[in-house]
Amino acid sequence: MATARVDLDGNAIKPMAICMIGAGGFIGSHLCEKLMEETPHRVLAVDVYNDKIKHLLEPTSQWGDRIQFHRLNIKNDSRLEGLIRMADLTINLAAICTPADYNTRPLDTIYSNFIDALPVVKYCSENNKRLIHFSTCEIYGKTIGAFLPKDSPLRQDPNYFLLKEDESPCIFGPIEKQRWSYACAKQLIERLIYAEGAENGLEFTIVRPFNWIGPRMDFIPGIDGPSEGVPRVLACFSNNLLRREPLKLVDGGQSQRTFVYIKDAIEAVLLMIENPARANGHIFNVGNPNNEVTVRQLAEMMTQVYAKVSGESSLDTPTVDVSSKEFYGEGYDDSDKRIPDMTIINKQLGWNPKTSLFDLLESTLTYQHRTYAEAVKKATSKPVAS
Ligand code: NAD
Ligand code: UDP
Repeated sequence: MATARVDLDGNAIKPMAICMIGAGGFIGSHLCEKLMEETPHRVLAVDVYNDKIKHLLEPTSQWGDRIQFHRLNIKNDSRLEGLIRMADLTINLAAICTPADYNTRPLDTIYSNFIDALPVVKYCSENNKRLIHFSTCEIYGKTIGAFLPKDSPLRQDPNYFLLKEDESPCIFGPIEKQRWSYACAKQLIERLIYAEGAENGLEFTIVRPFNWIGPRMDFIPGIDGPSEGVPRVLACFSNNLLRREPLKLVDGGQSQRTFVYIKDAIEAVLLMIENPARANGHIFNVGNPNNEVTVRQLAEMMTQVYAKVSGESSLDTPTVDVSSKEFYGEGYDDSDKRIPDMTIINKQLGWNPKTSLFDLLESTLTYQHRTYAEAVKKATSKPVAS
């Protein structure tokens, strides 16, 4: 453990207590690990689940005295304010944040991303506590480029598509397209936090993750999650590869995404935690503009990488096109393209992502193979007829 840590301006960093809500999820589990391994900070870990951080919580774990798990649902638990008051900083990661839910469970999505986040903002503001709130790149919605004619020369201009925290508009589809329930709820909570900062002096930082991926993301349907569940694209394609099924490309897989390795992104969050003077009052895109692919290209690259890490050079899992209505149901819509502009995070925190898409897929799919291949094999092997 590092003890004499200094911030970007050379000042000593005092150990702090962090109330981390949603600590048991994908991002939370990596952030808890980072905080335990590299800092002296304490974590009050709040979630309804803790499977992904069990290894840190075990009585024999060397971190046991610095991380404490509180199983509570922030919807309805009076202990929340006490935990926020006990901490120097609150980080709110809790959310329903899987696209398959946005159009099929829009009410839960809106409650989770707006209503349930309200008390967290209120308690931080009333108790003069700093807040780092997790929003989303989805806040930008569709790009202005989505409305350009197909042959417009602007389509070739990469700067035209950069999404800027302080300039780009938020473009959502009509209300019937319930996909946008999540983005809209996240936008309103961002506006509320910003207003708390402006009117009541709340010290806040807002994070907009652009497709952070890596080990422990979501679940493999039928193995450690519901068999009918639809996780985010990394876990969907991993599941297809593990089962040697075709990878499903929604509406032809033409949408574009930039993927960033979770371990790179966590470095950015640690800089925000330890540099309040540089992070407070800011909204930060956190992504990797160099890792842009179409979903179809992602499927092809994951197939190639999975062949390498599973040692099956002849792996032949084709892709198949499915309509979004068939895959997600009525009311789905999509973001066409998302490239983060990195100017603000670069200027304030000097952060840049390092890991290429190929490398991050290699380490992530190595993890998926080691963790799930045997279980999937068992689950899919037919019983021998007697
Ligand atoms: P995740 O689903 O893995 O983690 C969310 C955690 O919050 C879960 O462990 C869940 O149990 C917990 N939670 C939800 N509601 C709760 C409640 N009422 N009470 C207590 N705990 C509750 O998701 P993640 O990928 O780790 O995302 C974390 C945050 O980052 C979310 O706010 C999400 O919107 C945002 N985000 C993530 C990405 C990404 O690339 N992973 C992209 C955009 C935005
Ligand atoms: N997608 C796909 N096949 C799948 C799962 C997702 O083609 O099995 C597409 C989805 O339609 C979207 C992209 O992959 O265009 C990324 O989806 P994800 O669920 O990861 O979240 P998003 O980036 O849309 O928030």
